[in-house]
Amino acid sequence: MLDQIAHKVQSSQRISRSEAQWLFEHASDDTLQELASQVRGRFHAPDEATYLIMAIVNYTNVCVAKCDYCAFYRLPKQDGTYLLSTEQVFERIDAMRALGGTMVGFNGGFHPQLHMPHYAELFRAVRERYQDDLEFYGMTVAEFMFTCKVSKISYDEGAAMLKASGVRWITGGGAEVLDDDFRRRHSPLKYKVEDYYDAQSAIVRAGLGSTATMVIGFDETLGERLNHLQRLRRFSDEHPGALPSFLVWTYKPYDTELGGTELASREYLRWLAICRIYLDNIPHIRTSVLTKNEDALLGLRYGADDFDLPTEDEVTQKAGATISLEFERLLDAARGLGFTVKHRQPLPLPDVTYV
Ligand code: SF4
Repeated sequence: MLDQIAHKVQSSQRISRSEAQWLFEHASDDTLQELASQVRGRFHAPDEATYLIMAIVNYTNVCVAKCDYCAFYRLPKQDGTYLLSTEQVFERIDAMRALGGTMVGFNGGFHPQLHMPHYAELFRAVRERYQDDLEFYGMTVAEFMFTCKVSKISYDEGAAMLKASGVRWITGGGAEVLDDDFRRRHSPLKYKVEDYYDAQSAIVRAGLGSTATMVIGFDETLGERLNHLQRLRRFSDEHPGALPSFLVWTYKPYDTELGGTELASREYLRWLAICRIYLDNIPHIRTSVLTKNEDALLGLRYGADDFDLPTEDEVTQKAGATISLEFERLLDAARGLGFTVKHRQPLPLPDVTYV
């Protein structure tokens, strides 16, 4: 089996789902590094990696989705809820920019009182204030779906409103494991997988950029993980160039209802390699410093080519993530692995149109 897979990778052929499963279960770490680096080499110089500094600004922790893996949310009438004002959002952005940051990911909860015009107003204010000096992800696909529903508008209408307000990007966040059995166990109120992709289709049809994400380390089966990759690769085939990057990170179990233990770095890295090898239609694979700290940089040897240096993310910090602002130490760790690290600008929007 390994010879057959290695031949496919060397000759730029696609590997199948069962081959990805075989690799994850049987290949050595060295083999995974080698194969993932070969696929990486189709898109990027072998010894170069890129990064940017970014913050995830959590504008509200009010959420009615009640995912059992989340330590961040508060129900609407619970103590400790908050909603940032536009001025407070600006303060958070300014703090990130003072640290060299160029990108913000807005991420809140499923707030039942916030409708799309509220978000559009906030994002318009952010775009007007920072113009092209800042890029931002307006919201995650999951929040986008919920907000369209409570606003009683279609995904196409929601995407058009965001675009008109100055939003250029939505992140594929809130995806965790895109498998309906997984969703039924842990977040039955969030969405169904095909609905998620309906929303993604509307977003890219509107000319907005989007990304692909995944979170592992809950109780998901290997089959559920592979379902996520298989559906994602199909979406990317159907929308060539629409998803320029894929980020996989790990579940943090502290103070969550689900609990559990943290996924070991070795398994994270092995899965990262599978993602790189299998997702042959997504150019950038990003490794997660947010949840794996310095270990994430080893991911550059397992097929990743890019990483964020985060300055804040309350969602993962509440569940146990630790953030270091010692950027040079982290960059030195990447250099020590033999990579030249280049600060990059946020990606340009994909130059593609979908109908
Ligand atoms: S993960 Fe997101 S959608 Fe789920 S409860 Fe937490 S904030 Fe809400």
